[in-house]
Amino acid sequence: MSGCSNNFQKVLEAKRSELLSSASQRDDIRIENSPEDIERLHQRMNHELAISHLDRQTALLKSVEQALERIETGAFGICLHCEEMIPEKRLNAVPWAAFCLHCQEELERRRAVGELDEEDTLLSAA
Ligand SMILES: [Zn+2]
Repeated sequence: MSGCSNNFQKVLEAKRSELLSSASQRDDIRIENSPEDIERLHQRMNHELAISHLDRQTALLKSVEQALERIETGAFGICLHCEEMIPEKRLNAVPWAAFCLHCQEELERRRAVGELDEEDTLLSAA
């Protein structure tokens, strides 16, 4: 794959479709009424696992959509924090990366000590 953003656009659009099609299965996750308490508890645990998985997918979808917007505006591949170019190697691995590795690590450090809220967390779901 070459570094041209057209290719990244294709990759990102494919990823978006994949995430959207799995998001549409959200309705399938529902707790059935069961007369057995243990059974119900078991289903509830599975339900919560599925929800947390979906939350991660929703965050990833948001990152992918933001990357597609950056392709539109010509800002793709530029770190949102320091405005340096994100290395192509990193974009090949994580096309929806919004930050260079340095800033990503800084964000993760700040998140770990509780300086960042949920919204910032969503921004860098990669
Ligand atoms: Zn940066």
